[in-house]
Amino acid sequence: MGAAGATTRTSTADGGTVVTGNPRLVLLGKQGAGKGTQAARLSEHYDIQHLSTGDLFRAQAAEGTAFGLEAKRYMDAGELVPDDIVIGIVEECLAPGGRLADGFVLDGFPRTVTQAEELERVLDGWPLDVAIDLDVPREIVLDRLAGRRVCEVCQRVYHVNMPPVHDWTCDDDGGPVVQREDDTEEAIERRLELYERETVPILDFYREHGKLVVVDGVGEGDEVFARLVRVVEDERRCARHGR
Ligand code: ADP
Repeated sequence: MGAAGATTRTSTADGGTVVTGNPRLVLLGKQGAGKGTQAARLSEHYDIQHLSTGDLFRAQAAEGTAFGLEAKRYMDAGELVPDDIVIGIVEECLAPGGRLADGFVLDGFPRTVTQAEELERVLDGWPLDVAIDLDVPREIVLDRLAGRRVCEVCQRVYHVNMPPVHDWTCDDDGGPVVQREDDTEEAIERRLELYERETVPILDFYREHGKLVVVDGVGEGDEVFARLVRVVEDERRCARHGR
């Protein structure tokens, strides 16, 4: 069951703030670090919205919207979707009354320093609890990505060594479980390069803002999830005590 509650932020007599309510999280990490799987679990645990920009783009592309088809051109080429397009979409979701207004875990966004800066602007005095770097060595993510298979309907992630129970149909909704078009060896190399160049600088950005926590992403899913929850709880406890 979730740990939900409306987010409130109250000023204290000494000029600090007290934060209660739903977590506001960013999950960073290489492709294949497990962000999607763990973000979905955090979303369920805290009853907050999970926004994966990659899933959003793929869903829009499958629907054939103009925006989705444009995003698909970049995704298929192993490029990042331009910042202004991505920021416009996320800004809409974060607006008051938008789907992210009452707590969220962002997965795949921000992915450039410009996006991180724009996120700060959009959040405007309503900051993140924490940005978590789910840290997994390159050799391990390469193996995970090469064997990764995903449900076309709900995007649940499987691996060739841990397939669904019934003949490549999703355990949750029976959707076809397939290899993503951008999980070829060449595209994986290209995305990991882009990660080093565009996304690693974000770690410094959040470190300088005192928001970065690195979590070891190697191990059983349950173990990694427990580490993440511990970090979220610690950060929120510190915030409540006006750190
Ligand atoms: P991965 O982490 O394996 O790259 P995602 O599902 O997160 O997979 O993203 C798939 C693709 O969608 C990316 O390779 C990129 O083209 C595009 N994309 C997703 N999020 C962003 C973003 N925040 N900025 C730019 N492009 C993005």
